[in-house]
Amino acid sequence: MNAKTPQQNLIELDGSQGEGGGQVLRTALALSMITRTPFKIERIRAKRSKPGLLRQHLTAVQAAAAISGAQVQGDELHSTTLYFQPGPIRGGDFRFSIGSAGSCTLVLQTILPALWFADAPSTVSVTGGTHNKSAPPADFLILCWAPLLARMGITQTIQLNRHGFYPAGGGEVTAHVEPGATLRPITLIERGPCHALRAEAVVADVPGSIAKRELDQVAARLDCPDGRVRELPQAEGPGNVLMIEARFAQVTELFTAFGERGISAESVANHAAKEARLYLESTAAVGEYLADQLLLPMALAGSGSFTATVASSHLQTNIKVIKQFLPVDIQLSQTDNSAVQVDLS
Ligand code: ATP
Repeated sequence: MNAKTPQQNLIELDGSQGEGGGQVLRTALALSMITRTPFKIERIRAKRSKPGLLRQHLTAVQAAAAISGAQVQGDELHSTTLYFQPGPIRGGDFRFSIGSAGSCTLVLQTILPALWFADAPSTVSVTGGTHNKSAPPADFLILCWAPLLARMGITQTIQLNRHGFYPAGGGEVTAHVEPGATLRPITLIERGPCHALRAEAVVADVPGSIAKRELDQVAARLDCPDGRVRELPQAEGPGNVLMIEARFAQVTELFTAFGERGISAESVANHAAKEARLYLESTAAVGEYLADQLLLPMALAGSGSFTATVASSHLQTNIKVIKQFLPVDIQLSQTDNSAVQVDLS
């Protein structure tokens, strides 16, 4: 689809619906800009322990307002209500700073889809957290999400300049987008043959021996002999993330766990290995997280199909929000006991 000329009636959203987290807001911002439809959302992130706009969500709102010249009300920290009326999407060079370890990738996921439809190319840098719990690590956007978008016709690159971990933040991700493409529908029912299974344990201001123990444990849990320790400059820490990459012909998946004080390296590895195993033993093409992140581009393409390990509450909530903005039908069906199929038409 193409970015629209001014539209339509105000869409009213309930931020407490379904998952009741930040994704309702992010999807609404992206689709509001692309369809040029104003929206009002109440009870933002009502199901989270600290409801309302945190720094990451506020930065996403500000970034969306900057690229679309939007009129906004309620754009304050902890606000639980927001009114957003976008103007035309303008490409350009943008820098956004979250000012905490909030997730850079979630800010990018809010505005990149809009920039695909901008009037000019864009370069966007976001500083904050790049490897956060409950958010896609920058590597996930680069390895898993972006290649599928490239297949759909999107020209964009995403680069991790510097890692940022909770609580220090200070990381940076830069994306470059060439607009003007028309999104092509894709079908992703099978993942195809496995090309690689490898693990990377990243440490910053944390002993390399921790990373080594994580990799040993992954090797004990999965048939994954290919492990690499990556030691970052101390200044990027403290932080430790373990990522298991499963590269298949049709899709790449990434399973992540974070080192924490009081949690053994082996437990960290078990967590990531368990997620990887769940996926590897299923027949689905994509895992839980890629599923909810693939939905919006697929809906913009107007049709497409994929199989996923689970119809998570993130996925189901995203379906409801997308349907408020786009005239797309989205059906879920169980294909076997390890996969659901998502059909968009
Ligand atoms: P909150 O839950 O506090 O509102 P949030 O803004 O992070 O925070 P959510 O609605 O929970 O919002 O959305 C989190 C997003 O991060 C989802 O799109 C989910 O797919 C993605 N995500 C979470 N964990 C991972 C992971 N390990 N790998 C890839 N993506 C992830």
